[in-house]
Amino acid sequence: MLQIAALTPERNKDTSNLYATVIDMEPPAVTISAHGIDRIVSGHPWVYRTDVSASPATEPGDVVRVVDRRKHFWGHALYSDKSQIALRLLTREDRPIDRAFLVERIVAAADFRNQIVAGAQAYRLVASEGDLLPSLVVDRYGDCCVVQTLSQGMERLKPDVVAVLREQFALRSVVERNDVAVRELEGLPEQKGTLAGEPVSDVTVEENGIRFCFDLLGGQKTGGFLDQRENHSAAQQYARGRALDCFTYTGGFALSLAQQCKSVLAIDSSAEALNLARRNQHLNGISNVEWKEANCFDFLRAADQQGERFDTIVLDPPPFARQKSNLASALRGYKELNLRALKMLNPGGYLVTCSCSFHVTESDLLQAIAEAALDAHRTVVVVERRTQSRDHPILLTVPETYYLKCLILRVL
Ligand code: SAH
Repeated sequence: MLQIAALTPERNKDTSNLYATVIDMEPPAVTISAHGIDRIVSGHPWVYRTDVSASPATEPGDVVRVVDRRKHFWGHALYSDKSQIALRLLTREDRPIDRAFLVERIVAAADFRNQIVAGAQAYRLVASEGDLLPSLVVDRYGDCCVVQTLSQGMERLKPDVVAVLREQFALRSVVERNDVAVRELEGLPEQKGTLAGEPVSDVTVEENGIRFCFDLLGGQKTGGFLDQRENHSAAQQYARGRALDCFTYTGGFALSLAQQCKSVLAIDSSAEALNLARRNQHLNGISNVEWKEANCFDFLRAADQQGERFDTIVLDPPPFARQKSNLASALRGYKELNLRALKMLNPGGYLVTCSCSFHVTESDLLQAIAEAALDAHRTVVVVERRTQSRDHPILLTVPETYYLKCLILRVL
């Protein structure tokens, strides 16, 4: 495989403008209940509206001082007057939330990425709670950044975030992909476009030696599913023979598998995604991948009935359980997909199977697959239990930051 030097964030040395304060005045105080304090003490940055007992003189999106009823200080937080998550804690320290604070957090996030993203030019630079900047996502694609500000408070800080990104890194463009439904919960409009620099949409970067063209304005999410980056190369280690990549999007797994496999069949229901996937295939001079627009459930059922066989199968569906109430139907969906896949694998074949539903735990998924294996009369070995790429950090006390499960299984 080609070795590519990590794209290191080039720091600008000019810090003259960094210490302008975002907030000039003493922030308003929000009083929270004992239950709210318990949550903070347990290491969770969210305080729910039901735990807010007083929030006088606050404006939507303010940075506020969080206090208990004795006026004891518990931290600085972003305040929302709409969301059930009324407060998102930024720090337990009593310090100004200014440009210098943002610089410190963003630089710390970038330093960690420099340790772990060797070979990747596209990665999550700031992962919200995982980088102690709740409701801020920054994805880096080469010399471009895509920003999501997902709370009223982070929306207010957006100009400062963009300024810090431009000051700290040599960027051609900063784009926003705030066209996400969660913004509605904050009373914020859905919007996307260029925030700074030149208008850019398509960016070509390398991941594990493969070139990918990401559509930053037109693609799904911020252009790519960066949380699967490390799983793409993990899957490549086991890939062999005839491969099937279900829910391929722009070919993240398919093009990685293609290097090791005789042939790859890649399926997605989105024609736009498959157009980008074909473009990625051509960029890399790969000729052994066939793309098919189809519903994966229908495809798998038909292929199973027709007696198709594969040596490697990837299942990477969209989240089936966006709410806890969908858990049972989500598990039926995972069982159905995995049952079909297990039936179609040749002995010694590998199944790479994922769930990005936070509400489906790894043990739920293992249970659903065990049931599928029994129904399919297959004996299965768990080869690897994986999760999201390390640039999407899992915070030990914030369960919501652990959402992606990726199991690599071998059929005996
Ligand atoms: N595997 C990809 C990411 C997949 S995201 C990667 O590693 O980059 C999920 C994909 O599933 C999206 O591209 C979406 O278009 C597709 N999708 C959603 N529902 C589908 C269905 N029922 N059948 C086929 N594709 C589907």
